[in-house]
Amino acid sequence: MANSETGGVVAARLVLIMSARRERQKRERGRRPAPGDNRSPSPALSGLQQVLYDAGRAAEHIVTTFLSRAAPAAELTEMTAQAHRLALHTIQQSPLAARHACRPGCAFCCHTAVTVAPPEVFAIAHYLRDRLSADALGELRARLDPNAELAAALPRADYIARLIPCALLTTDGNCRVHPVRPLACAGFLSTSQEKCAAEFTRAPNRDLVPTDKFGAAAALCVAVGLRDGCRAAQRDGNSYELHHALRRVLDTPDAPERWARGENVFAGCLT
Ligand code: SF4
Repeated sequence: MANSETGGVVAARLVLIMSARRERQKRERGRRPAPGDNRSPSPALSGLQQVLYDAGRAAEHIVTTFLSRAAPAAELTEMTAQAHRLALHTIQQSPLAARHACRPGCAFCCHTAVTVAPPEVFAIAHYLRDRLSADALGELRARLDPNAELAAALPRADYIARLIPCALLTTDGNCRVHPVRPLACAGFLSTSQEKCAAEFTRAPNRDLVPTDKFGAAAALCVAVGLRDGCRAAQRDGNSYELHHALRRVLDTPDAPERWARGENVFAGCLT
């Protein structure tokens, strides 16, 4: 994988490949091969590209399998946990895995805008309800409002430029929902804490933060597979701003059940 490519470019390319393959497979399902036609059904991928492609397809398979057997809403957490484990496992195959500088208590990157798919936010809400007292959950719920309002009021670039701390960040710089954190967060992996600090403080003449492009692409491919799986099963697979989506789910105790029935639970939430 060329390190000069940005994570977004790598992932976008893989997403295009995934989508082109899916379309081609659809067409080929209805066509019998001509005698002597030994062509591969889709163009060959190699190495890390194949790992990313497989991760995206595996995530989609996890979701469609769960949703096609009308699994109870309580099982959505397990579905998302499987997709999460798949993302972390794929990220660990990165050539830069041993150089990740991200550590507990380092939260420079937790001052940005994050989007989540419905299953991700159900898992986060479930995790919080399981661990926080009613008072603590109420306090956290109140902390979502200012971020949600700013996210709605500001262009995304301005929201990011203001370095607004995520409402799920603890005072000691840890993610309160780390085991179920959004895939977008799991895939942002720096190889230099020093350069993250320089970026955060807007130090003059700073370098770009060196990130693990493969890690970002792995998380994105799993996220795309998750969303495609939702859509294939006729469920909402859109991306929503984290604070908007989380407060909607915390305010709607039966949100997972309603989503699983195909209802538009996130109507009005910022995308
Ligand atoms: S969800 Fe967790 S990891 Fe993601 S930005 Fe918020 S605090 Fe950071």
